[in-house]
Amino acid sequence: MKTGGVQYDTFSGWVDPPADVRPSLSGDLTCDVAVVGGGLGGMSTALRLAERGRDVVLLEAEFCGHGASSRNAGQLAGAPGGDLQLLNLFYRKKMPGMIRLAEHAAHHVEDLIEKHDIDCGYERSGNVFAAVSRGQMGRVRRVAKLLRRAGGDVELGTTESLGIPHGFVGGMRENVGGIMNPGLFTAGVRRALLGTPAQVFERTKVTGVARDRGQAVITTAQGEVRANKVVLATNAYAGEWDITPPRLSVPIWVIEVETEPIDPARLAALGWTSRSGLVTQHNIMENYRLTPRGTIVFGVRRLERGRTYPLPAKKPDPALVEELAQAFARRFPALSDVALDRAWGGWIAITSSWLPLAGQLDESIYYSIACNGHGLAQAPYVGSLIADLIVDGERHEDLAALWVKKAEFPRPMMMGPLGLRTIWAVDRFNDFVNGSRRNALRGQRRSA
Ligand SMILES: Cc1cc2nc3c(=O)[nH]c(=O)nc-3n(C[C@H](O)[C@H](O)[C@H](O)COP(=O)(O)OP(=O)(O)OC[C@H]3O[C@@H](n4cnc5c(N)ncnc54)[C@H](O)[C@@H]3O)c2cc1C
Repeated sequence: MKTGGVQYDTFSGWVDPPADVRPSLSGDLTCDVAVVGGGLGGMSTALRLAERGRDVVLLEAEFCGHGASSRNAGQLAGAPGGDLQLLNLFYRKKMPGMIRLAEHAAHHVEDLIEKHDIDCGYERSGNVFAAVSRGQMGRVRRVAKLLRRAGGDVELGTTESLGIPHGFVGGMRENVGGIMNPGLFTAGVRRALLGTPAQVFERTKVTGVARDRGQAVITTAQGEVRANKVVLATNAYAGEWDITPPRLSVPIWVIEVETEPIDPARLAALGWTSRSGLVTQHNIMENYRLTPRGTIVFGVRRLERGRTYPLPAKKPDPALVEELAQAFARRFPALSDVALDRAWGGWIAITSSWLPLAGQLDESIYYSIACNGHGLAQAPYVGSLIADLIVDGERHEDLAALWVKKAEFPRPMMMGPLGLRTIWAVDRFNDFVNGSRRNALRGQRRSA
């Protein structure tokens, strides 16, 4: 695969930054609710509050959609993220609630797209847990069983029955969800928000949040906001706050790359008739999806931990782009001559439990965090549920499923550089063993 001409972006491969960035806050103001962070989580909170008649202010450091929300793979998942077997081992009782939350979240996003007429190329294709080996297929079967037992809408199948590329050995489709252009979706949510009475200040980095006589006081370079309630929705950037509970989450950098447009006949020959997004069953997944522009977007495979705050604006590491290109050539041998056009990345937040979290630090301060790489569906849903909680004073059962009673979090395991390297090495070892097995089988067939 050719990687010589890759364009490395510091933003996203899906859209350009908005042309109408809103002015920053200048001066002091008071409001009922302030939302910090204009990703899908924060924007959805503010949108819902404004729709329900609340006086709401949103403060965003760059522009709404600057973070992971515009940069992700666009796979709208209908199942929770993380290693579901491990999650089931540690949090069996929580699983039905998590699965319900994930499915409702995907439906919520579909409703948002329809309600606000957002043209983001959404395809209700579902997403497939795709196995690259027989070992991975065993894992898929176990995951399918536990998801079904907990009420999940999933279907096991072969490469042919699922309509996925011939390079995979089979898998399990989450029937809820699909694929979209997340940059266009996020821009659509921003447009909807700007159409409400909510006051949105972009290029306004919040530098501090403090409590004062039952209110929250939010500091920025050019003004202060006093609010009865504040919702912290900065996700991976949450660790920049003094007020954030220790070990709430770990910031992790992940990347996506996109091929050049591929000849339609060659794409058709892959057998990818369902157009479902794919995630492999490695410890650190690879994801693959088609786009309406006749390209394939794929990524992840390696996690890089952020070490210092503030989190830097980064471009992808060329060595990882090269590694992803090699993985692509293995999964799609017929396309191994295709060139890569662009690469970008973003910061996600991973919690020590690998579960999404939301909670309250006191009467006035709410937070939601870390859909662990599954926030395209879950961040907007959780954001709107927090808005409803603020208005109604009642927690929806899906919010209750992830609600943190006491904001104390254990040290995350395997999330240091050595741990992440080890997980990656285990995946590569398994790939190597599977590759050797496949070659041996091919050799046996040839000599027979
Ligand atoms: C490469 C990649 C691929 C992914 N793929 C998928 C996928 O296919 N499916 C899926 O479901 N999820 C995926 N995700 C995860 C998903 O994108 C996130 O979970 C989701 O977008 C989180 O939304 P958010 O609103 O919580 O955070 P963000 O979108 O990161 O928003 C946080 C916002 O806070 C702002 N901010 C930070 N600090 C401050 C401050 N001090 N003051 C004011 N504002 C501040 C930031 O500028 C940013 O706009 C992926 C993520 C990445 C990076």
